Amino acid sequence: MQTDGVALVTGAGSGIGRDCAIAFASEGARGVAFADIDLGAAQAAADESRAQATNPAYRAVAVQVDVSSEESVQRMVDLVRDEFDRIDYSVNSAGIGVQQPRSVSETDMAEFDRFYAVNIRGTMLCVRAVTQAMMAQEQLTVAGRTGPRDAGRGSIVNLASANSLVAFPDIVQYTTAKHAVLGITKTAALDNAPHGIRVNAVCPSWVETPMIDKAFAGNPAMLEALASNIPAKRIAHAEEVSDVVLFLSGPKASYVTGVAWLVDGGTTLQMKIG
Ligand code: NAD
Repeated sequence: MQTDGVALVTGAGSGIGRDCAIAFASEGARGVAFADIDLGAAQAAADESRAQATNPAYRAVAVQVDVSSEESVQRMVDLVRDEFDRIDYSVNSAGIGVQQPRSVSETDMAEFDRFYAVNIRGTMLCVRAVTQAMMAQEQLTVAGRTGPRDAGRGSIVNLASANSLVAFPDIVQYTTAKHAVLGITKTAALDNAPHGIRVNAVCPSWVETPMIDKAFAGNPAMLEALASNIPAKRIAHAEEVSDVVLFLSGPKASYVTGVAWLVDGGTTLQMKIG
C-alpha cells in the first residue's frame, strides 16, 4: 500500500495482528504501535519489525493493553499520540478464541461474558477511542497524491470472522461476539464517513495462527478434516489476511467503508449436504 503514516495494531503480539503490524513497517510506515496484553510478545514483534522497516525514520513501540478495560485502552491511545502525534491506521485484532466447543445448552455463562468483554467491548472501546483521536487530527495526504485518493483522517479495520455472517456449531460465544463486531463496524462506518474516517471489517474463516493451534491442539485430525471441507482445501496463511487488512487501510480503498470482506477460501459459499 505504501504509506508514511502511523499504525496502531492491537493483538500485535501474535498471529494476524503481528503480521499486520510488521506489514505496516515494511510498507513504509513511520511509526507502528504494537499493542497486546502480552507485553513481551508485543516487544518481540516490535523488535522484529525494525529489520523489515523501509522508512529510515521508522520507530516501533510496544504497549501493554487490556482491550476490555476502558482506562487501559485510553492509556494506549494517549501513549501512541504522545509518541507519534497521530494515528492514521488502526487495526483491532486482539481477541480470544474458543478452546472447548459446547452446544448452546451447555455454554458456561462466565465464558460467554469473557467473550463479550474482550471481543465485543474490547473492539468497541478501541474503535471509540481511536475515532476520537482521528477526529482531532488533519487529513493525511499521501506523498505524491492529492484529492480523492487522500487517506482522509484515518482508517480502522476490525478483525471479524466468517462467523460474523454464518453460525458454526458449538461456539455461540464466539459467533455472537463476531456478529457484534460487524454491528460496531457498520455503525462506526456510517457515523464516521462525514469525518473522513473509514471503518471496515475483515472476515477470515480459519487462519494458521497460535489461536487455531490452541483450539485444535488435542485434535489435529479434526483440523485436517475441516481443511479438506473448505473449497480451497486448506486454511489461510496469516499474510493472506494481513494483505487484505492493509489494502482496506490504505488509499486504494479510499471509497470503501462499512464492508465485511470475507477471506475464507470459499468456506461460506457452500451448503454441506450429507
Ligand atoms: P492469536 O491468539 O494468535 O492473537 C491474538 C492476540 O490478542 C494475542 O497476542 C493475545 O495476547 C491478544 N489478546 C487477547 N486478549 C487480549 C486483551 N484482552 N487485550 C489485548 N490483547 C489481547 O489470534 P489470531 O488468530 O491472530 O486472531 C486475531 C483476530 O482474528 C481475533 O480477533 C480472532 O478472533 C480473529 N480471527 C481469527 C481467525 C483464525 O482462524 N485464526 C479466524 C477468524 C477471525
